[in-house]
Order: sequence, then structure tokens, then C-alpha cells
Amino acid sequence: MSRDFIYSGSPAHIVFGDGKSALAGEWIEKLGCKRALVLSTPQQKADAEALAVRLGSLAAGVFAGAVMHTPVEVTERAMQVVREIEADCVVSLGGGSTTGLGKAIAYRNDLPQVVIPTTYAGSEVTPILGQTDGGRKTTVRHERILPEVVIYDPTLTLGLPVGMSVTSGLNAMAHAVEGLYARDRNPISTLMALEGLRAFKTSLPEIVKSPRDARARSEALYGAWLCGSVLGTVGMALHHKICHTLGGTFDTPHAETHAIMLPHTAAYNALAETELLAPVAQMFGGSVGNGLWNFAKEIGAPMALKDLGLSEVDLDRAADIAVENPYWNPRPIDRASIRKLLQDAWEGRPPA
Ligand code: NAD
Repeated sequence: MSRDFIYSGSPAHIVFGDGKSALAGEWIEKLGCKRALVLSTPQQKADAEALAVRLGSLAAGVFAGAVMHTPVEVTERAMQVVREIEADCVVSLGGGSTTGLGKAIAYRNDLPQVVIPTTYAGSEVTPILGQTDGGRKTTVRHERILPEVVIYDPTLTLGLPVGMSVTSGLNAMAHAVEGLYARDRNPISTLMALEGLRAFKTSLPEIVKSPRDARARSEALYGAWLCGSVLGTVGMALHHKICHTLGGTFDTPHAETHAIMLPHTAAYNALAETELLAPVAQMFGGSVGNGLWNFAKEIGAPMALKDLGLSEVDLDRAADIAVENPYWNPRPIDRASIRKLLQDAWEGRPPA
């Protein structure tokens, strides 16, 4: 088939390297800002406060209340602080939850964002915000949401617990796998997806063996940037729909859910897109689904939805929700196949 695509490059500045978070102040000034609000989760409050001390007069305050799924009531509390301290930018230090809060603020008042990611979730390079209101999760895509500056400093990930490194890495890999068969994929998104998968394939087993291996940590964060960029550029399909259903309705943890579902959804779509997914089969060995499943098992990922607190009786409802208003998918989605796929994932069996 002859080539046919649209490519739009992201306008964000990406700064990558060990120790580069020390440049946060410089980037705040380059953005023309003087009063940053530093954001984090309660668990990373001490790191956020230390960063604020290093920023000196450029930091006007710290808000350490970020939580998973960006509830609007938390955003409103943070917005109150933004107004009180007259913040003119936000610095988000943490994983997808903290980045989500920074994005939610920027969506409302267009404040520039500097993000310093400490997990592999990839949210920092997407113009997408998922937020919850009264228990309902909605997603918006807007140019105001895309962070202006991302500083990837692998030294900040040396202490990311091994379990979280594994699930967060598989979460990122799911963006890449779905990017390979995305309807709106382009040559750059495909290159980034394959290079991102390669980076995680080599680095995650090394991190499991030796969590403070600086080279492996750098490689994994590089993979996170690549896979996140794919998520920010092209549309996602069945895998992300199922994970949003499970997370949104049954409150299963984000990265773990992605980690468990990836081999199953990839196997499902490999039947329709054998050629596009052939490099994944080659990289991980065997078939696409089994290769990814064996890789996840080898690095100690959670393998069964039942271990995330999801009960078997919920699978019928999960299948119903997953097939209603489906995202575009390369293989037609039928309820019986999705119900079967969920059963395999629930029991922790390899994909059919
Ligand atoms: P997270 O941000 O919730 O982090 C999990 C926990 O780990 C938190 O307590 C955090 O403080 C802690 N943590 C983070 N980095 C650490 C480190 N280096 N060392 C020790 N502890 C650390 O988890 P996540 O998986 O990064 O993000 C999940 C959230 O991101 C979800 O709400 C998800 O919907 C969102 N997300 C959004 C997008 C998007 O494009 N909009 C993409 C991916 C994820």
C-alpha cells in the first residue's frame, strides 16, 4: 500500500539527562514566569518541598494533594492556592497523578507547566486530561493541557519501587503497542513505538535485577518519553477502552490493570493486524500475546485481575461496558470474545 499520513510534531520542550531537574528554575524563567506552584502527591511532599527550596524565590508555594484520577474537588482546592499565592506557572513533580493535577489547572487558566516525571506513565507528553467528578471519569483533549516543558531526570527514578517500575513500564508499552495499529499512525509514531518497546524490553529486566542501575533507569525513562509521545499523537483502541472501563467503574489500579491486560488485548488485535504487530512478536519471541505475557511474567508483573480485587461476577458488567460506545479498533469487537478475554485475564491464563 502506498503511504498516506498526517504528521504534527509536538511543540513541547523535552530536556533529558541525569541531574537535569536542576535546570527547572532556568526553564521557569525561560517561560517568563516568576512564581511557581510546585505540585506533588502527599507521598512525594518532601521531594516537592526540597525542590521548592532549590527554586528559591521562583517557588511561591507547594500543593501536595494530588491523587489518582484527578478529582475535580482536588483541582478546585489547588486552584484556590493558585489564586492566593498568585502563581504564574506550575511545576509538577511525580507520576501521572501529579501531572494530571497540573494539566487540570492549566486547562482552566492556561498557566504554563514544567513537568518532572518520576514514573513511566507518559501523561507529561499528551494533551489529554482524565478527571473525575462525582465518581465519573471524563477525558478532554485540548492544546492548553499539553505541558510546555518536560524535564526527564533518570536519577529521580532510581528509587521507584521495582513493582511500580514494572507495572508503569508495561503501562507505557501499552501506549506503544496500540500506537502500532492506530488508524491515524504515522511513520514517526511507529518509529517511536518500536524504539520505546525496545527500550523497555532491555531495561525492565535489568531494573528488576538491579533497581539502582543508572543506565537501565535512563533507558526506561527514555522509553517512557517515546511511548508517552505515541499516546499523545495517535488514537488508542480496545486496550485503553477496557482499562478505562476497569479503572473507571471498578476502581482497579491504573498501571497494574494495563500490565495485566496488555498481552490479552494485543493477542486479540494481532489476529487483525498480524503484519503491523510482527515486530512485537519478533522482539518478545513467539506470538504477540504469548511473547508479551511471558515477558510480563519474567519481570514479576501481576498477571491476574482477580488479584486486583475484581470479583468474577463483575466480568459480565465489565464486558457490557467495554463493548458499548467502543473506541475504533482494528478487529471488530464482539461481546463474547471480550468476555472470554476478560475471563483469561481474570484467571491469569496466557492469552488464547
Ligand atoms: P501515580 O502518579 O499515582 O503514582 C503512584 C504513587 O507512586 C504515588 O503515590 C506517587 O507519589 C508515587 N511515586 C511516583 N514516582 C515515584 C518515585 N520515583 N519513587 C517513589 N514513589 C513514587 O501513578 P502513575 O501510574 O504514574 O499515574 C497514574 C495516573 O496517571 C492515572 O490517574 C492515569 O489516569 C493518569 N495517566 C494519564 C495519562 C494521560 O495522558 N492523560 C497517561 C497516563 C496516565
